[in-house]
Amino acid sequence: MEKKKYERPIIKQLVTGVPGKFGRPEKPNIMTHIDGVSVKSLLNEYGSPLFVMSEKKMREKYQTAKQAFTTRYPKVQMAWSYKTNYLDAVCSIYHQEGSWAEVVSGFEYDKAIELGVEGSKIIFNGPTKSEADLIKAITNESLIHIDNIDELYLILKITEKINIRPKVAIRVNMDTGIYPMWDRFGFNYENGMAWEALNKIMHSGKLDLIGLHTHIGTFMLAPNAYKIAAQKLSDLALGLKKKFSHNIKYIDMGGGFASTNSLKGIYMPGVDTSPSIDDFAEAITSALLSAHYSTEELPVLILETGRALIDEAGYLLGTVLANKRLISGQRATIADIGVNILFTSFWYDHKISVAQEMTDFTEPTALFGPLCMNIDVIRENVELPLLNIGDNFVVHYAGAYNMTQWMQFITMRPKVVLIDEQGRTHIIRENESLETIKQLEKVPEYLSKFEL
Ligand SMILES: *Cc1c(COP(=O)(O)O)cnc(C)c1O
Repeated sequence: MEKKKYERPIIKQLVTGVPGKFGRPEKPNIMTHIDGVSVKSLLNEYGSPLFVMSEKKMREKYQTAKQAFTTRYPKVQMAWSYKTNYLDAVCSIYHQEGSWAEVVSGFEYDKAIELGVEGSKIIFNGPTKSEADLIKAITNESLIHIDNIDELYLILKITEKINIRPKVAIRVNMDTGIYPMWDRFGFNYENGMAWEALNKIMHSGKLDLIGLHTHIGTFMLAPNAYKIAAQKLSDLALGLKKKFSHNIKYIDMGGGFASTNSLKGIYMPGVDTSPSIDDFAEAITSALLSAHYSTEELPVLILETGRALIDEAGYLLGTVLANKRLISGQRATIADIGVNILFTSFWYDHKISVAQEMTDFTEPTALFGPLCMNIDVIRENVELPLLNIGDNFVVHYAGAYNMTQWMQFITMRPKVVLIDEQGRTHIIRENESLETIKQLEKVPEYLSKFEL
C-alpha cells in the first residue's frame, strides 16, 4: 500500500446547526492540471514561482466576447489593450484573432509596430503623447485619440510641418452614474468641453475627425453605465451630422468590463457578481441601435477590452516556504509569491487552489509573500487546507495587469509560460537574473574598490 502523505493535525471548533447564508463551507479548491498539463511538472521544469498563460482560454474569451457584440451589431472591431498584458506572444494571439492594437504610450506604440501591426490599425490613446510620438503616428496613419486641448493644438502645429492629414478622435468623459467619475482623461461631455473640441477640429479643416472615444473605468460592474456613455457619444455624433453634415466612422467604447476576479470588500465572489460580456454588449449595442443613425451611417463599434479577455487565462503558481502561527492564533503560510509580482492582490481577493490532492480539512490562513515588507500579503484570510513546506498552489485570475505592473523588488520576476492549444508549453518570457538587473547599472570608477 502506498504511504499516505502526512498532514499535520489541527484542533478546530465544530460548528453545528443550520448552514449559513451560502450553505456549508466549500471544500478546498484543488487544481492539479492547467489545460491538461500538470502543475507540478510545470514547476519542476520552469521553477517556482511561475506565470502560466492558457492560449485556449484567451482565444475562447476573445471569441465569446466578439460574438456577444457581432450577434447584436453589424460592425464590430476589437483592439487589444496593450497595457493589460503586452507580452509579444500574448499580443500576437489577439492579433491572430483579428484585434487591432490599443496603446497608451510611445513605448507600447513601438512594440505594436515591431510586432508587425499596421500603423492604420493602431489606436493611440493616453494623456501624454510626445511631439515625436505624434509625428510617427500621423505618418503611419494611426488613429490618434486626443486627450486634451494642448494635444489638439500640438497636432494642429504638426500639420503645418507635414503634409499628411492626421486621423483623429477625441476621448470623452461623462457622468454615467458611476462615482468617483473618471474626469481626468479626455474632454467632458456635460460641461461642453467635448463639443467645443469637436468644433475646433471641424473648423480647423486640417484634421480627419473619424471617431469618438470613451473609456469610463475599469472592472466596471454596471452595464447601464455603458448604455449612458453610448447615448452621450451618439448625441455628439449626431450633433456633428446636424451642424457639419459630417459622419464619424466609429464609436470606441473602450474597455473596463469586469472579469470574474473578486474585488476586495465585495461579499460574494466575482463569479456571482460580475455581469457577463452579453450584459455589456446588450447595453452598448441597444443604445447605439436606438440612436438616430441611418443604417448606412451606423458607426463601427470599437472595443478595447483588456481585463475581461485575459484575467481568467493567467495563473500564478507558487510554493509554500514556511508556516507559522500569529499571536492571534491565526495560521500564516509564507510562499514564494510576493505582491511585487502579483500587483493585483492589492485590489482583489484572488481565488487560490492547491495543486495536490488533500483532505477536506481547512483552516483560515493568512497567505504571505516572501518579501521583507509588512504589506506583502497575498490573502489576509483564506480557507486553505493544511499546507506543508514544498506544497504547491495556484493563484487564479492573474492574467490582467500583473505582467505589466510587476516590479523587480527584493525578488526577481519569474518566467512566463504559455500552454498552447495542443497542450505544449513555451517560455514566452524568461526569468530575470542578477545579470539582467546589473546590465543597466554603472559604478563610477572611484567606487569600484573598498576594503572592509
Ligand atoms: C486600460 C485601458 C483599456 C483596457 O481596460 P480593461 O479594464 O483592461 O478592459 C482600454 N482603453 C483604454 C483607453 C485604457 O486606458
